[in-house]
Amino acid sequence: MRSFRSILLTGGAGFIGSTLVRKLLEREDVERLVVLDKFTYAADRSNLTGPDQDDRFQVVEGDILDRELVTRLIQENRCSGIFNLAAESHVDRSIKNPGDFVVTNITGTANLLEVAREEEVPFLQCSTDEVYGPTPAHEKFDEGAKLKPSSPYSASKASADLLVQAAHFTYGQDVVIARCTNNYGPRQHREKLIPTLIHHALRDEPLPLYGSGQQIRDWIHVDDTSLGLIATFEKGSPNRVYHLGAKCERTNLGIARTILKQLGKPNSLISHVTDRPGHDSRYALDVRLALTSLDWRARIPFRSGFEKTVRELAAGLRAD
Ligand code: NAD
Repeated sequence: MRSFRSILLTGGAGFIGSTLVRKLLEREDVERLVVLDKFTYAADRSNLTGPDQDDRFQVVEGDILDRELVTRLIQENRCSGIFNLAAESHVDRSIKNPGDFVVTNITGTANLLEVAREEEVPFLQCSTDEVYGPTPAHEKFDEGAKLKPSSPYSASKASADLLVQAAHFTYGQDVVIARCTNNYGPRQHREKLIPTLIHHALRDEPLPLYGSGQQIRDWIHVDDTSLGLIATFEKGSPNRVYHLGAKCERTNLGIARTILKQLGKPNSLISHVTDRPGHDSRYALDVRLALTSLDWRARIPFRSGFEKTVRELAAGLRAD
């Protein structure tokens, strides 16, 4: 069984990473938790307010491409595991500037894997349902489905997953991959769908929705994802892929309407804009393997979890 004694978490100042930090620090077997984050535009120092008061916790500003730094952090902290969440994560940006995604998501992951091999540290890769491309209606992709990414973002994540698997086949490295569906929750960057819709609704501005808004996503609360990542590291078999989803499919239009209803605003604020190129119509994952092998399942009901998220994000965005 892998040890939680000393963990290096990359991308811990971002959305999912900052929740994973909190969930890891709830564990008594975590003696040391080091966040390595480049603090790109997507990160926020205040995301780590609270955890930064814990003696076991340290934040280091740096790049996952900096091999010397990564090696030093692993050696100094005698790390027993790496959670790789560092990434360029916004699909729209990947369409405008794919190069950044190749560098961080592919080369960065390759760099971490090499250090993990040299230092013999188990490695968890946080990946996405987007690597499979669109899921046909009435189907769900299992872990063996063909990778068919549509965007530069998802292509970079699929490439990273293949490097992770190659590290196992070639060098016998202890690696495991968790592919997550769409997350909602606190501390998400303003540019992502839910904070964007709330931001515009609060200002009585048109809510921009790509195309018809009929794109379907499976929404999972970030607390459930973080516990799923922990369960994957703790119980996942080497070189297996696990799907972390909530079986909670909603259209983007439905998400927009739910937000408007909660904020007491009219549906007439919804404004359909030209669709994004390569926009996948639906993502849906078969999560049975995670349920049976990891003793994990998404527990937060969408209704209450989403309502709380909208309330909290709206409070933050009103204060801006
Ligand atoms: P995010 O953009 O909020 O956070 C990414 C973090 O990585 C930021 O703190 C950023 O500063 C850091 N980072 C970027 N480049 C770096 C580099 N070169 N070195 C060190 N740190 C760097 O993203 P997120 O939504 O929290 O996603 C985290 C991970 O989960 C990503 O790998 C993403 O692909 C994956 N994922 C996210 C979702 C989702 O719904 N948010 C769904 C599936 C998978």
